[in-house]
Amino acid sequence: STLQEKINDTIVDVIDFPKEGIVYKDITPLFLDATLSGEIVDEFVKQAKGKVDVVCGIESRGFLYGIQIAQKLNVPFVLIRKAGKLPPPTINESYDLEYGQATIEINPNYIKEGDRVLIHDDVLATGGTAEACAKLINKCGGKISQFSFIVDLTFLNGKDKLTPFTEEIISLTEY
Ligand code: 5GP
Repeated sequence: STLQEKINDTIVDVIDFPKEGIVYKDITPLFLDATLSGEIVDEFVKQAKGKVDVVCGIESRGFLYGIQIAQKLNVPFVLIRKAGKLPPPTINESYDLEYGQATIEINPNYIKEGDRVLIHDDVLATGGTAEACAKLINKCGGKISQFSFIVDLTFLNGKDKLTPFTEEIISLTEY
């Protein structure tokens, strides 16, 4: 079977989590399968090769394959975290959620002027989080060369928020 079929057969739908009416994609069973996880990392690496100077992972599931992608590309890995978790120096970016706001942070010294940055996360939903990350990278002087996700929930049209930064938006499966 294809990589996409294997991913689809492994991801678990959780009904009414974290709220009624939401079908949550639980991607954590992917990490139980070392062979499949290796294939996933290799696919992301293949698609990023030669295009990326830095990989940024979004807290927290973006860290898991993100650092493996960075190490295989032999480039730095940088953590983008929720506000209050990283020690100074940090810069931040706030964005709207369905209810309220969220803030993410990065150490700006870890991104060099002109760096081509890959932003990686597990799931693209509304795109608000990845968009805020891209703005944060731009503030640091970096440019977005690619976004990559395991899953794109296409019915939420998250890609529309990301195309202003780059047309390179990779997902291994979509719903
Ligand atoms: P967005 O900002 O695109 O609406 O939401 C993306 C963030 O929420 C990501 O960091 C992602 O991990 C998380 N997220 C949203 N929906 C799901 C889901 O169905 N499954 C998982 N694993 N994460 C989700």
